[in-house]
Amino acid sequence: MNDCIFCDILAGRAPAEFVYRDDWCAAFMDIRPVNPGHVLVVPIVHTALLTEVDETSTRQMLWVGQQVDAALRESGIRCEAVNLFLADGRAAGQDVMHVHLHVIPRFRGDGHHLRFSPAYFKSTPASELKKNAGLIRQRMENRP
Ligand code: 5GP
Ligand code: ZN
Repeated sequence: MNDCIFCDILAGRAPAEFVYRDDWCAAFMDIRPVNPGHVLVVPIVHTALLTEVDETSTRQMLWVGQQVDAALRESGIRCEAVNLFLADGRAAGQDVMHVHLHVIPRFRGDGHHLRFSPAYFKSTPASELKKNAGLIRQRMENRP
């Protein structure tokens, strides 16, 4: 048995408020919401990184995220907009190593901000965009 809180939740060994479940993924309330109504969408099969999730579950996670997004907007919970956020790896801010898509209701003045380092505000030379596009394109073309 692995030591994963989200696997415990999916198996019913730990409590959570579920809003959706199918054969590929489930959605439940984040215990520490950024704003009220914050939901996590997770694959049923324990997978640490998005790059390891099977294609069907990956597609289903985004679809469920879209459905939760729509439900939030209609729910009466304060929701003017929605952030979908997925930290894929510890350096990106992933704390729980079972893939999860955050679906976060947002409204003007909620006080939350994404912050970027000063490097972001410098313009990037076209040559660098071209070089990086080439590196990514090459790997995309070689994917199964
Ligand atoms: P991360 O930082 O990995 O992107 O997000 C992990 C999220 O999982 C956090 O928003 C945190 O509040 C949530 N979380 C951590 N432990 C639990 C738990 O036991 N139950 C639920 N429902 N959410 C959890
Ligand atoms: Zn897990």
